[in-house]
Order: sequence, then structure tokens, then C-alpha cells
Amino acid sequence: MNYVQTVLENLKKQNPNEPEFHQAATEILSTIAPVVEKHPEYEAAGLLERFVEPERVIMFRVPWVDDGGKVRVNKGYRVQFNSAIGPYKGGLRFHPSVNLSIIKFLGLEQILKNSLTGLPIGGGKGGADFDPKGKSDREVMAFCQSFMTELYRHIGADTDVPAGDVGVGGREIGYLFGQYKRIRDEHVGVLTGRGISYGGSLARKEATGYGLVYITEEALNARGDSFKGKTVIISGSGNVAIYACEKAQSLGAKVVAMYDSDGYVYDPEGIRLDIIKEIKEVKRGRIKEYAAKVKSAKYSDGCKGIWTIPCDIALPCATQNEIDTESANALVKNGVMCVAEGANMPSTLEAIDIFQKSGVIFLPAKAANAGGVATSALEMAQSSGRLFWTFEEVDKKLKSIMINIYHNIDSAANEYGCKGNYVLGANIAGFLKVAEAMMAHGVV
Ligand code: NDP
Repeated sequence: MNYVQTVLENLKKQNPNEPEFHQAATEILSTIAPVVEKHPEYEAAGLLERFVEPERVIMFRVPWVDDGGKVRVNKGYRVQFNSAIGPYKGGLRFHPSVNLSIIKFLGLEQILKNSLTGLPIGGGKGGADFDPKGKSDREVMAFCQSFMTELYRHIGADTDVPAGDVGVGGREIGYLFGQYKRIRDEHVGVLTGRGISYGGSLARKEATGYGLVYITEEALNARGDSFKGKTVIISGSGNVAIYACEKAQSLGAKVVAMYDSDGYVYDPEGIRLDIIKEIKEVKRGRIKEYAAKVKSAKYSDGCKGIWTIPCDIALPCATQNEIDTESANALVKNGVMCVAEGANMPSTLEAIDIFQKSGVIFLPAKAANAGGVATSALEMAQSSGRLFWTFEEVDKKLKSIMINIYHNIDSAANEYGCKGNYVLGANIAGFLKVAEAMMAHGVV
């Protein structure tokens, strides 16, 4: 067995019952094998063993009281995975499905994603199995305050800077920041995704979705094509999905379908984003309501059917493993030309294989959705410098970061003889910088 396979086998043995972590590690390690072969000093330094082992895992109980006076207890996590190139950086996810495996897969991915941005940020991720859906504002506040009452001692503007993720938006970041400030008596950039009135960055809310479309547009431009006139499907209807839709529409695409975890809406006339925003951002409602308001739209229960709708470009922006073999085959059969991942790991390993073998342009999450964390790093820079950039300044920097990422992953794929394989290109380009820093730091 070679070095990469040995590390992977040991990882699976040492971390049983963590399928998502195994999946992410398999995808990453199998594609960086050629780099590891070129650098025998990595094996001598135990670099891969250290790379797949988090520097620190923090697990804690989060007790809080619901509106009925009942005490509830959730599990909280922060995985500080790798700080070789900068302070840990990565979102907090509040969702009932959260467990250690999911947080570790997200943390591992985050290391390479953050490296790809070209900015000095390490990799981390956290969250809780708490479901903000259906909770009152007071309950969400009580939960966030309890969560931060443990987390505050592990984070800091130069140590670990969490952000939002699924279930953690502006409201949750506000409550978390308020509690941090109260305990520490410091008004510092310890969280990103903050409101504009207390240190947030303009364009952070839009960044992941816009960034996804910028990198996809660059990949299309490189082939003499663009979003203009394309039919697009976007899964999810949360932060990433909404702003991916906004930017794709502004570039002349027609977005025909979106979903939430209950079901999807198909609107052949093109999704009316103002109505989606009203339902999702203002009322925190369900996507079903869209079909009641828009005559041309049809609602279907369940999510999977969305991938059977013919489209040119698919932007999965909801959750992990939402595109499996069956959905990938349906997309390819219907002529999809490009799949770009807004969510983290939305395609299974088998689905990625199908896209790549069918010649579909496939942009993996760690490159395609890096715009969010890149803009978080821009928020950190503004906080440290007590600066406030305009929307246009931030958006311009974001666009240039996404264009650079495309060219870096494209060059890495070419250099390693796998033209157009952006999974390999992204993993290698991200890994090289982290590996160099880890080697420079000695055995730590
Ligand atoms: P939101 O919570 O704002 O939205 C998530 C959306 O996905 C909602 O429409 C939600 O539906 C749906 N969804 C969540 N879980 C499931 C599921 N199991 N099945 C079907 N639908 C589901 O999250 P974001 O938009 O912020 O994040 C979406 C993805 O993008 C995640 O993978 C996240 O890690 C990734 N990401 C986000 C970044 C950001 O800046 N926000 C940055 C980089 C990556 P419902 O409302 O019914 O739950």
C-alpha cells in the first residue's frame, strides 16, 4: 500500500462512523497523490497524518430554556483543523443533522478552500445539532448565548474567527457577537457576517452566491461561452442560492427552479427572485408559497425531482450529497454542460465521476463557493484596519479573487496532466501552500 492509501486506511480505522469525513478525505487524498509522490519529504515528516488530524476538537453541551420553560440540551462543536497559514476560519452550522463527522468533513474542506483564496486564513468549522427553524427569536437568542458562553474561550480575532453557515445568518451572528462582547468586553472582529452597523462588511451576504457565479462565468468565458441565455437550476433557497440566482439573472440566465427541504418550485417563465426573497428572507416561510403567488409555477413535494428538469447549468446550493448517481445521470441525459457547487460537497463521489466522464465542466465547492470565506477575510481586514470599504470595492475584490481561483485550479490541473479536472486542480493548488507552511513550521 502506498503512503496515501495507508493514511486513508488508518483514518477510517481511527475515526469509525464518520462517513462524511471519510468521503471528503478520500476525495482530497486520492487527488493529491501525484504531489505527494513528487515530494518524498512529506512522508518523512508525517505530513499527511498531521494534515487529516484536527489540531483541536472542542465538543460541549449547550443548555437553554425554551418558551415553555423546558430545559433543552444540544451538542456544540468547534473543530480547529489547521492553522498553518492563518487563524482558523470557517462557519458555524445549526442544523439537526450536525455531528462530528459532518463538522470534520467541512473543516477539512475548509483548509484547502481558504488556501485557494490566497488570503491568510486557516481551516476550522463548528456548529450544533440545534434547529433554528420554528423557534422564536427569544429561543434562538437563548441558544446562541449559551453556545457562546462556552465558545468564547476558544476563539479570538487572531486565533479563530467563526462565521455563519446553514442555519446561522445575520440574526444568529448578532446574538453570538452580543454575548461574546458582553463576556469579553471587547469589540473586535471575532465573528464575520456581522451586521453593517457593528463591523460587518458590505457584500458579505451576497459573496458566496455572487462568487459562485463569477467563477462559473470565468470557466464559461474560457470556452467562449457565458451565462447569457442559459437555463439554470439552483437547489436551496437560502443565502447562497438566493444570491447565486440574483447574479446569474443579472448576467442574462433564466433560473427555472429552486427548493427548500420540503420540495421544489419549477417556474418555466423564470423564478421571480423578489418573491423568493420576500418568502425566505422576510417571512422565513416555505417555498411552497411561491407557487401560490405565481401562476406559471408548479410546486412538487420532495427535493430530488429538481434534477430531472432540463437545464444547461446546475448550481447545487443546499446541502451535502444532494446529487447522487441517479440525479447526475438525469442531469447529463438532459444535456447539462456545467455543474458548479455552491453548497459544500453536494455531489457524491460517484456523481462527480459521472460529470467528469461526460465532459461536463465541474467546479468543486472548495473553489466555487470560496467567495464567502474570501469576503469574510476581507471583513477581517476591514475590522483590523478600522476601515469600511464600499460595496463596489468589496465586490471588485471578490470577483478578482474568484477569477484567480479559476486560473489557479486550471493551471494546477494542466500541470499535473489532467486538463479540466478541477477537483484535482483545486485540491492540489490548495494543498501545496498549506504543505509548504506546515513543512516550514517543523513537527507541530
Ligand atoms: P441557508 O441555511 O441559508 O440555506 C440552506 C438551504 O438549503 C435552505 O433552502 C434549506 O432548506 C436547504 N437545505 C438545508 N438542508 C437541506 C437538506 N438536508 N435537504 C434539502 N434542503 C436542505 O444556508 P446557506 O445558503 O448559507 O448554505 C448552503 C450551503 O452552502 C451549505 O452547504 C453551506 O455549507 C454552503 N456554504 C455557505 C456559505 C455562506 O457564506 N453562507 C459559504 C460557503 C459554503 P430549509 O430552509 O427547508 O432548511
